This record gives sequence, structure tokens and C-alpha cells, in this order.
Amino acid sequence: MKRRLFFKRSGLAAAGAAWLAPSAMAAPASRTKQPAARLDAPLNPFLQGGCWFKAALHVHTKTSDGDVDVATRLAQYRDAGFQVVAITDHWKTNDLTTFTKDGFLAINSMEVHPKTGSGAPAHHFVCLDLPHPFELSKELPAQELIDTVRRAGGKVIYAHPYWTAHGLEELLEVSGYLGVELYNAHCELASAKGHSGVHVDQLCNKGLLPGLLAVDDVHKSTWLAQGWTMIRARQLTKTGIMDALGQGCYYASCGPTIIDFRVENGTVRLKTSPAAQIRFFFNGAGGGRLFQSEGGKTITEAVWNLTGSRKQPQWIRAEVVEVSGKRAWTNPLPVTERRS
Ligand SMILES: [Zn+2]
Ligand SMILES: [Zn+2]
Repeated sequence: MKRRLFFKRSGLAAAGAAWLAPSAMAAPASRTKQPAARLDAPLNPFLQGGCWFKAALHVHTKTSDGDVDVATRLAQYRDAGFQVVAITDHWKTNDLTTFTKDGFLAINSMEVHPKTGSGAPAHHFVCLDLPHPFELSKELPAQELIDTVRRAGGKVIYAHPYWTAHGLEELLEVSGYLGVELYNAHCELASAKGHSGVHVDQLCNKGLLPGLLAVDDVHKSTWLAQGWTMIRARQLTKTGIMDALGQGCYYASCGPTIIDFRVENGTVRLKTSPAAQIRFFFNGAGGGRLFQSEGGKTITEAVWNLTGSRKQPQWIRAEVVEVSGKRAWTNPLPVTERRS
């Protein structure tokens, strides 16, 4: 029987369109069949023009439960070499109008926690690019909340599913978010539950290609700049950055710099800053491939010719591990070229 292709590479996704189409994700996991091939694949940031901008997209201040005020927090990030910071206090926005200047962009945002339909602990959603003031009712059902944010021009990230004790059921009961926090530094440093790689692989196996983000979720200043998102955009403006986020033009990191990642002519290539390991993750049993440095040296490139492999990936994503253990992650890409 012919295997169904999950992915559709349709070129440019509409600017600002979420990748996780509501029609493909409306049903709870227990009733979800293989989603139709109606999803737009994310753009590969390594094939786009523009510049890289270092972004902190989950940040708390004294407006909710952070340890410093907005001005101090933004100064901390600016001093740490970030160009983009979204302040995401719990259920509250901030007036950031005076902070965007001189190559630095502050994006008004908030974190919200609507109930799950499954009875699991509440969802945590990071809602980016909101007006100020902006209020959301804590009684809004999760999907209505996402829809309200999107109608207001914002974008939603599904925050730290491992820390929240969520599985595929919770990830699939809502739709319209652009990506998932694969790494949340606060959840890792406080609870050792910051890595949600298994969750995102399960979404990919359902035919969905979420963007993967690394964030600080900083509350206390000593845990600042532990995880970030590198955004490929043509200009450092709110429109430029938010469009790039909507199109999937970014990768996530705690340290390594990913230089290139692409699938061409049946070959997967990744180039990186010096690393101890380069790992590829893809669908299917045993869906992983690891390239390891030897003899105390580091590696900066991995090339895997899929035509010589018995594996037939439909999607693939990469993880780079430094000698220090710090990691970086690409977004998943569809593999549209198969071996015959
Ligand atoms: Zn949270
Ligand atoms: Zn948070």
C-alpha cells in the first residue's frame, strides 16, 4: 500500500500563518486520524536572506513574578547581546513603547494558563506581540484564548509541555500555535524538566511540523541567557521579526551556532560550530542517527546520504551537542525527495 505523504511543501507559507492548521488538529488525540496533507511546511531559515537576530521570547519581570522591573530586565538582555526580547508576564502586558531603539526590539507579550480539556494541569501559552493594555479572561477556554490572541494580531507558542506534564493529547486539543518550547531553561534548572524533544517528535509523527524554540523563561536574573532563539529576518522591526517567526525562520540554542541545515538531492547536511555530536531525529522505529567526534577532536559537519540508507525519513530535525553538553536544535524539515 502506498505510504501517505504527510507534508506539502508549498513554498512561502502565508506571512503570519500558524503552521498547525486548526482543521488538522481539532480532534482530541484519541480520535485523531492521520492528518491530511494540508499543512504548509516551515521555511528553512538557512536558505533565506537576511541576518540572524538573537531573541529571548519568554521573559518575566516584577510585573508578575520576576525579580527585576521591565527596564532592568531589558537592559540585562541588551548587555547580554540580545536584539529581540518579548516580555511575557503572567496574564499582564507592559508598556514597552520607549524601549525599542538602536538595534533593539522589545515586543509586548504575555503568558497565560487556560484549563486543559483533558483535566491535566493548565496549558501555558506564550502570546507574542499584543497591544497594551490587553486583557484576557482567565475563564476563556484554551482554544478561544488562542483564537482571541490571533485575532488581535498576536502569535502563540506552546510553553514547556514536559514541565506541565502534558502529552500528545494536550498538544493536540488546541490548534493555531506556531511552535513548541523544545527547551525551557527555567524548567530545566528548577525541575530538570526543560527538554520536550519527545513531545515535538510525536507532533512531527502526526504529520505536523512545529517550530522549535529555546527560551529562558527567566524569573531570576542569575538564570538569564541560558536558552535563546536565533531568528533569520531581513530587518529588525516588529513586522520583520514576527513574520520570520510565523514562517519558521529560526533555530534554537543554548550555546552552539548552527551554520547550515538542509536536505538536498537525497542528502542531509548540517554545519555547526565545533561539536561533540550531531544528531538527526526522524520518524519511524529507530528514527535517529548520530555523528560522534573521536579522539578528543570536535566535528563541524555531518553529511548523511539518505539514498544509501534503509531508512526513509518523511521529516528530519537536527540537534548539535557541544563538548560542554550545551545543545542547539533546528526546526523539523520535510523530506520530499525519496530514494526509489
Ligand atoms: Zn509557564
Ligand atoms: Zn513563564
